[in-house]
Amino acid sequence: MEYEAIIGMEVHVQLRTASKMFCGCAADYAAAPPNTHVCPVCLGMPGVLPVINRQAVEYALMTALALNCEIPEYAKFDRKNYPYPDLVKGYQISQYDLPFSRNGWVAIEVDGRAKRVRVRRAHLEEDTGKLTHVGDASLIDFNRSGVPLLEIVSEPDMRSGLEAWAYLTKLRTILRCLGVSTGNMEEGAMRCEVNISLRPVGSTALGTYVEVKNLNSFRAVRQAIEYEIARQSTILERGGEIEKVTMGWDEAAGRTVLQRSKEEAQDYRYFPEPDLPPVFVSREWVSELRSRLPELPDAKQERFVASFGLRAYDAALLAEDRDIAAYFEAAVEAGQAVGVDARGISNWITSELFRLLKESGTSITEIKVSPAALVGLLCLVNKGAITQATGKEVLAEMFQTGQLAEAIVAAKGLSQIADADELSSIVDRVIAANPKPVSEYRDGKDPAVRFLIGQVMRETRGKANPQVVEALLRAKIRGE
Ligand SMILES: [Zn+2]
Repeated sequence: MEYEAIIGMEVHVQLRTASKMFCGCAADYAAAPPNTHVCPVCLGMPGVLPVINRQAVEYALMTALALNCEIPEYAKFDRKNYPYPDLVKGYQISQYDLPFSRNGWVAIEVDGRAKRVRVRRAHLEEDTGKLTHVGDASLIDFNRSGVPLLEIVSEPDMRSGLEAWAYLTKLRTILRCLGVSTGNMEEGAMRCEVNISLRPVGSTALGTYVEVKNLNSFRAVRQAIEYEIARQSTILERGGEIEKVTMGWDEAAGRTVLQRSKEEAQDYRYFPEPDLPPVFVSREWVSELRSRLPELPDAKQERFVASFGLRAYDAALLAEDRDIAAYFEAAVEAGQAVGVDARGISNWITSELFRLLKESGTSITEIKVSPAALVGLLCLVNKGAITQATGKEVLAEMFQTGQLAEAIVAAKGLSQIADADELSSIVDRVIAANPKPVSEYRDGKDPAVRFLIGQVMRETRGKANPQVVEALLRAKIRGE
């Protein structure tokens, strides 16, 4: 029988507010020694009163708007009761029946197919402390306790590991564009749990799902889903039944492992948080927040296609990161004054510049090549002063030193050789040294000429004008 996978996701996102969710402790604990960002509130001492962090609520609402959610007029906080060592109060302040938002969606595209993954709700809660197990002992760090978390719950609309990966990627892109979270999964700023069940293709029933936790990277999410699909279909093929359990992902072994069996849903005995008032979200507040939203990646991508004639794929690469998008737009503006077109700029950024950034591990905000300097280089290439190949070499040098293209070209004598007389003797040498490709070309194998052009380019260290070289080669071999 053929099965299809039904996948839903819960994503916890740490919001980058200055202070914690309900107290004044600094929320950025990354570099802090354990238990230094703490106070009676986030340590859960008796008799203290929490205060709602307005910034966290605004970040939650802005994210909800970017996820196309409805924002109800009233929201409230609830206590979710469960005992765990990293939760000193014995309860977590979360949201139960009146979350800040619901009924949204995220647009994804996989293999050229666009679809929407519905977002059931996005609610605010507080993070727990962090346990570290050392031998027989467990150490607790409460720096993380009370950091604002936004839990984004999807409907089970994904059908493959690839779709889940696309959903997470889009989510992170939006969070980063809004500036509400780093979205770094490896650092725990974005954590995800996946629900996976299978059903026969064509059926509309929902099968028993398995929950997978401990997923520390996008890759792990994709692999865990693929592993579970294979595991569950093997069980179903043999006529077995899927048990409702919680699994963890064992990265090293590349498999899911049983964490606990879950006979029935845990009873958290939710009740309204008595220490916090309900939150009234006025329509004026919502429209004010909406007006503060930056242009989101999808809209930006569409604009890049419509205004600059970019291919959708390239536009998506540029629009995905707001710093890269800003760099691209600054270059386009500089290019307009000197007749360098946006498509050329896009090509150089998405190929050469991306490669240099990746190899050096630099971010675009730190680089020494200004958008105007990149355009200066493209000017030289476009007017034929240097070849495309030399241009790449010059860009690498600019990237290293911050020098301008013209200065590098002048200092290194990299100007293009387009003079046929100057190239003639080199072309003669290449023809003499490569009898086999030459005779292949004579026998009608046209691609052989490409090899010979490559040899001339090598001899001239990429400075020869390829069109002139090609014309010379063809003429000389034909004996003209
Ligand atoms: Zn505190």
